[in-house]
Amino acid sequence: MENGRKCPSCGGTMIFEPGWDSLLCQSCGYKEIIPELVSKIPVQEMDFLSAQNTASHDWGMEAKVVQCRHCGAQTIQNKLQLSGLCPFCGSTTVETADPEKDIMAPNGIIPFKITEKRAFYIFKEWIKDRSLAPGKLAANADLKKFYGIYVPLFTFDVLTVNRYTGKYNTAEGVRFKSGKYQFQVDDFPVVASRQLSSDRLLQSVVKDYWTKEARPYTPDALAGFPCEHYSIGLKEAWNSSGEELYKYLKRETENHESKGTYLDAEIATDYFDLKYKYLIVPVWLNSFEYDNRLYTVVINGQTGKINGQWPKSFGTFLLKAVDLLL
Ligand SMILES: [Zn+2]
Ligand SMILES: [Zn+2]
Repeated sequence: MENGRKCPSCGGTMIFEPGWDSLLCQSCGYKEIIPELVSKIPVQEMDFLSAQNTASHDWGMEAKVVQCRHCGAQTIQNKLQLSGLCPFCGSTTVETADPEKDIMAPNGIIPFKITEKRAFYIFKEWIKDRSLAPGKLAANADLKKFYGIYVPLFTFDVLTVNRYTGKYNTAEGVRFKSGKYQFQVDDFPVVASRQLSSDRLLQSVVKDYWTKEARPYTPDALAGFPCEHYSIGLKEAWNSSGEELYKYLKRETENHESKGTYLDAEIATDYFDLKYKYLIVPVWLNSFEYDNRLYTVVINGQTGKINGQWPKSFGTFLLKAVDLLL
């Protein structure tokens, strides 16, 4: 795949090498460290309220939006890159969508640590542990390759003041307690991909990154890897965090204020100084069709955590298919 970066040694195509924070020439093996990724520079927190005026739209490359006609997923690719398969459904019916004026650019990236080979190994171990009831092998069953793709993730920092009223049990009966607990929320994640956030299993993988290891965005890390265009915008992401954020704040407040009892609290929260980071984070995706249903398995490209759906009668076949690929 092209990404506009040529090898200074032989002119070949350089692509990002998972696990090495570097670009690797496909022809001669020349390697180049990507300075942003090996730096210790943290990703800048951005002010939420002024996001419209301050967010960057500079991808550091000529970007185009590619849309899948089969499942609707939108990915951002370098203009020079040939559009191949849709990483979400494997369909070849991808087309360049109308150019959009303001595609907000990420301000941070978590680079791939897990290689494709390692992803297959993780998948193999995982599918081994699923139900392996031997079933019929459908003719259309096809285990495609893993697709490496960056997906969008917003994280939020916010100062919270939580007023609570709660109850707890004592030997003498139920007691009531109320008060205020103030604390800073750090890197609360909201998946900005509708494709992945609509499924609880997939979302659990895409939420779970060591965000402190994110580095300032650089287009070099996208060499050879497409990036999904966020389908949930910044404001929508913050608004949609409500229920889960409430559960998190409630739990933190209860833990802090319980003082050895079991406190069950209702809370009301005021938010101050809301900040965000727009990160793109690595996943290995595998989608396959079986009995006219699309199954997706996703592996966290940083931690190796895996989850997804699988046809219950399919395990043995998959295992064989993976054996052939390894
Ligand atoms: Zn080279
Ligand atoms: Zn698709």
